[in-house]
Amino acid sequence: MQLHEYTISELSSLISKKEISILELTQHMLGRIEKLDSELGCYISIVEDQAMEQAAKVQKMLDKGILTSPLTGIPMGIKDNICTEGILTSCGSKMLSNFVPPYNAHVVKKLYNSGSVLLGKLNMDEYAMGSSTESSYFKKTRNPWDTERVPGGSSGGSAAAVVAGEAIYSLGSDTGGSIRQPASFCGCVGLKPTYGLISRFGLVSYASSLDQIGPLTKTVTDCALVLNAIAGHDPMDLTSSRRIHPDYTKALINDVKGMKIGLPREFIDDSVEKNIRDAILNAVKVFTDLGAECVEISIPVMEYVVPTYYIIALAEASSNLARYDGVKFGYRASNPKDILDFCKRTRSEGFGTEVKRRILLGTYVLSSGYYDAYYKKALKARAIITREFNKAFEQCDIIIGPVSPTTAYKIGEKINDPIQMYMEDIFTVPVNIAGLPAMSIPCGLDNNSLPIGLQLLGKRFDEQTIIKTAYTFEQNTEFHNLRPSLNV
Ligand code: GLN
Repeated sequence: MQLHEYTISELSSLISKKEISILELTQHMLGRIEKLDSELGCYISIVEDQAMEQAAKVQKMLDKGILTSPLTGIPMGIKDNICTEGILTSCGSKMLSNFVPPYNAHVVKKLYNSGSVLLGKLNMDEYAMGSSTESSYFKKTRNPWDTERVPGGSSGGSAAAVVAGEAIYSLGSDTGGSIRQPASFCGCVGLKPTYGLISRFGLVSYASSLDQIGPLTKTVTDCALVLNAIAGHDPMDLTSSRRIHPDYTKALINDVKGMKIGLPREFIDDSVEKNIRDAILNAVKVFTDLGAECVEISIPVMEYVVPTYYIIALAEASSNLARYDGVKFGYRASNPKDILDFCKRTRSEGFGTEVKRRILLGTYVLSSGYYDAYYKKALKARAIITREFNKAFEQCDIIIGPVSPTTAYKIGEKINDPIQMYMEDIFTVPVNIAGLPAMSIPCGLDNNSLPIGLQLLGKRFDEQTIIKTAYTFEQNTEFHNLRPSLNV
């Protein structure tokens, strides 16, 4: 096995036993990126020199016994909407194509403190708006299983890098599915934590009441390790929860006996590709064979989740993105006639088509004549959707279903039909609307040998039940070991 194929937990043990050095591991990963990334396009920036310096420093601290975290020496990549001091944080946009933050996001600080080594910043849809990573200003990321296909999005770079061995793990952000959907398209583990569990300080805002940072990893064990490192209260984020989080590795238990697993009728209807439905039903069988009980439930509000999400997300986006006026930071138009021309041209030239569409729609639903009809109504629908999920959780411990109605599609196939793209978010957005945690894990391959993701939805702050259920699935199946053949 080559170094990039190992998990965090395996590498951590090799590092602490001194069987490999952190420098050697970092060098190997940088070599891997050099070989593959011109084709796959996972990274926007690669920070070779900083990575090697950090590796040397971390190795010294480890040798002195100062650093003992399981993430010590583990090379990672971070989505390019999470601020890294001194390193370009572009958000996949021309608007921020010159933005070098003077500070680190809370999660970045935490990962540096645990000794993890940053390899670079990962590609994404512009401002995290999209599901295919095709709207990045810089490049398209390709799916490692089939380079003619999208890796999903918006954290497409984060998922593809982990699966291709260009990072041992990565961070993404999830506003309506952007961690789980690319994890499912690329075949890795992706967790969208409960709203408030991870600080959003230093995450470039898309829709603040929905955004959450989370890990993408090869295994559920690795997910628990990264979650341990990044969770917890941060006074810099007013929505950050004060509860003390548990040690998530304690939930790595291979046992689902007596658990009630809810399968909503609406999650396996005809809108879902047959291969995916079969894989989900197979997962149900795995669980029931292990002693869990499957209960059929109903979430009778599914037809409202996509419109509700796209009204709330776009309203918040239009307000969050008002700050990009060319004055404070980012791109500025040259030779303006006057201040109005300056602001107008900065925004026209700096934002891409999808971002502009969303700002216009968001401004529309917030405007005085339409506020009540759209935005206020969407807030009411949000309350009802949240209530329906809470009700569903009275009948079961966890809910399972697909992540997306399709597997990875061809590059260019859907980019010109935004409504069709938005509709594909149906199974991921309710989780953000209700502030719940949810994970995607590999559960099969379709007829084209493309990965299928199983989604596990938990109660608020009950990441442990998700981890336990996902870990049990992993221990009793082989899907997490499937890797694309990349001929290198
Ligand atoms: N696809 C969804 C959107 O375009 C989700 C994006 C996200 O989670 N950042 O809004």
